[in-house]
Amino acid sequence: MAFVERYAEIKARDGRSPRSVLRHAALDGLAWRDRLSGRTERGLLSPRVQFLYVHHTFTDELEALRRLVEDLSRTHAFIPYSEGVQRVQQGRIDRPYICLSSDDGFRNNLDGARVLHELGISACFFINPALIGLRDEAEIARLCADRFHLPPVRFLDRSEVDELVTLGHEIGSHTWEHHRMSALPQEAMIEDIQRTRDTLISWLGRADHFAFPYGRFTDLPAAGYRAALQAGHVSCATAERGCHANTVPIPADQLLIRRDHIILDWPLAHIRYFLGTNARKGGADHNPYLASA
Ligand SMILES: [Zn+2]
Repeated sequence: MAFVERYAEIKARDGRSPRSVLRHAALDGLAWRDRLSGRTERGLLSPRVQFLYVHHTFTDELEALRRLVEDLSRTHAFIPYSEGVQRVQQGRIDRPYICLSSDDGFRNNLDGARVLHELGISACFFINPALIGLRDEAEIARLCADRFHLPPVRFLDRSEVDELVTLGHEIGSHTWEHHRMSALPQEAMIEDIQRTRDTLISWLGRADHFAFPYGRFTDLPAAGYRAALQAGHVSCATAERGCHANTVPIPADQLLIRRDHIILDWPLAHIRYFLGTNARKGGADHNPYLASA
């Protein structure tokens, strides 16, 4: 079986629906409007910590990764994930910052990690220990289809995870095998979160950050949020859009990190438009898990 190595293969497989063509054209218009009025640039210049994440850096996306970093570097400081979390916790947000992360631990993450290393940037890779080093092709095909809606993509192996660390990146927990936490019985969920962190610590010596699969508020019960912090993680991240612009400290047990998903293949103008809009909307202090504590 051949593993997918190029994003073009996924695009060709998914095709372009009339709806996606329309959406693309609408975004072109919005991006153009906000660029002309200066709104995008003003948003990008606003002090905040913007967490961005990808799932893959296929070989034909590496150039776009480089371009994106070069473009956003003009207005932002790229900082390590831990520093971003610390700044949000302390309310020390004096300029525009970006923290990069990637979820799911595909092998092509390492290619992206090397590009980032060359550019002097540290990212955080959220991985699932049970998927690291998988070799069984049928199993990989099944997992990729069921959990990631992707054709077969190779996962990192153990030595490649070490290489990420050697390149100056952080490794975070994305749970044991990428189950939707809200679908597990509570005991199993708590056990999954603790076991993942323990395993990452035994592999790497640390595992400070947690990001749960699928990332919507509804994908993690409040008990899962509490379990992640009780297990010793410094932070818990969603995949809910937003950015952090607080100027007062947020206690660690009240913090919930927002992250924006991007696909590197998207036009840079669209990504800039999303981030500019996001920045203007401002703070992401709301933590729905506290209300149900
Ligand atoms: Zn994931």
